[in-house]
Parts: sequence; C-alpha cells; structure tokens
Amino acid sequence: MKGMADLLRSGAVMLSRSCPECGTPLFQLKSGEIICANCQRRVVIVPEGEEATAEAGMRLESVEEVIVEKLVTLGQAMSRESDPEALRPLSELMDSLLGNLERLRASRTA
Ligand SMILES: [Zn+2]
Repeated sequence: MKGMADLLRSGAVMLSRSCPECGTPLFQLKSGEIICANCQRRVVIVPEGEEATAEAGMRLESVEEVIVEKLVTLGQAMSRESDPEALRPLSELMDSLLGNLERLRASRTA
C-alpha cells in the first residue's frame, strides 16, 4: 500500500466519499479498487439499502479466503512430510477444512 501522493501519481482518483473508519478521503485505483491510504486497507462501497447483504457476503468471503490460505499452507506442510504417522493428522485437518469450505460455499449460493 502506498501514501496519498504515490496514489495520485499512479493515476488513482480521490473520491468525494470518506473512509468510514477514519474519515480520510478514499481513493479509487485504476483497477477500480477503492482504498483508504490512512488505514491502508480496501474499502467496499455498497449502494444504500444493500449494505446488510453485501456485508454478510463479504464476511463469508473473507472466511473462505482464510480457509483456502490454510489449505495451501497445509498442502505445503504435507508435501514436506514423509512420515505416515505425521501425515495422518494433517490429512484429517485438510479433510475437515475442505468440509468447511464446501459448506461455506453451499451456504453462499443458497
Ligand atoms: Zn481509513
């Protein structure tokens, strides 16, 4: 993440909306992403009246990201492990993470 000056130089546009957390004006990047330079994070602006659903969807998505991340880490750990006894708990964990992911995805499309 960059400072405001760098953002403007890179072609980002300062928006009339401000960050809900700190009140700093938000920037829209060329990619369309909206970020707060002060909080150094992405901000999602949703049309009024749709906030509740968008927020719930976003939270589930970030949980999904975490699970996928853990699966990748776990996969790397498994690839380094050659002892079957050590592999078993890793494989069980992966199985349960995959189950979580599946249920999460099912609940999102429901
Ligand atoms: Zn902020």
